[in-house]
Amino acid sequence: MQKTQQLYEGKAKKVYATDEAGVYIVSYKDDATAFNGLKKGTIEHKGSINNRVSNHLMQLLEKEGIPTHFLKELSDRETAVRKVRIIPLEVIVRNIAAGSLATRLGLEEGTKLRCTVLEFCYKRDDLGDPLVNEYHIKALGLALDEELAQLSAYSLKINDILGSYLRDLGIELVDFKLEFGITDEGKLILADEISPDTCRFWDTKTGKKLDKDRFRRDLGSVEEAYQEVLFRLMGIN
Ligand code: UDP
Repeated sequence: MQKTQQLYEGKAKKVYATDEAGVYIVSYKDDATAFNGLKKGTIEHKGSINNRVSNHLMQLLEKEGIPTHFLKELSDRETAVRKVRIIPLEVIVRNIAAGSLATRLGLEEGTKLRCTVLEFCYKRDDLGDPLVNEYHIKALGLALDEELAQLSAYSLKINDILGSYLRDLGIELVDFKLEFGITDEGKLILADEISPDTCRFWDTKTGKKLDKDRFRRDLGSVEEAYQEVLFRLMGIN
């Protein structure tokens, strides 16, 4: 399989078309941004770590019945994925209050939520990805009712699968962000990535942050924390 042209360059990944119909290649970068691009930096080896973490978790989800874009890991930082049209929503799943939810609702970070919370943000960098509800999504035509119902059900199931898998590895799944897309055949599947860039992972015993908050908040040992997540997934201690 050959890359043909670069279609898109985002903050953390590049996406290429290929000579195979319906197949894209994503290439993970070491670049890191936070606060809607205001803070910029690099995290050494992030691209290859996130590529492997995301592929590992996507394959786990596939086995558990969640359709994903994953096709084949091609190299350290490149993966073949199913071509999709991305639904312009970020789906945020929360188990424990942190980040913007803690700020918005005046909750102490670490407060356990009484039930899992699903939130939707409209993917619009120029607007700072604003929070939207089901009515906004319908009114703006961001997703069809049945797509919204399906991606919500998938998101809750993904939370159950990943939450219990990670707990066994000593990682608490605090919150995370998902993106879904529609294939040329009209099927809704999980796309984008699942990595320490897009999840909050706290060590179950010590509470140590093993995710992008180390970069956002200048906590140090960012690369080591990402590496630690990969090691635990690979069963390396
Ligand atoms: N998140 C993400 N991309 C975004 C916004 C959020 O991957 O553009 C993830 C973030 O890493 C965290 C969860 O979604 O795991 C909830 O993020 P929150 O709304 O608290 O925003 P933040 O505090 O990151 O601004």
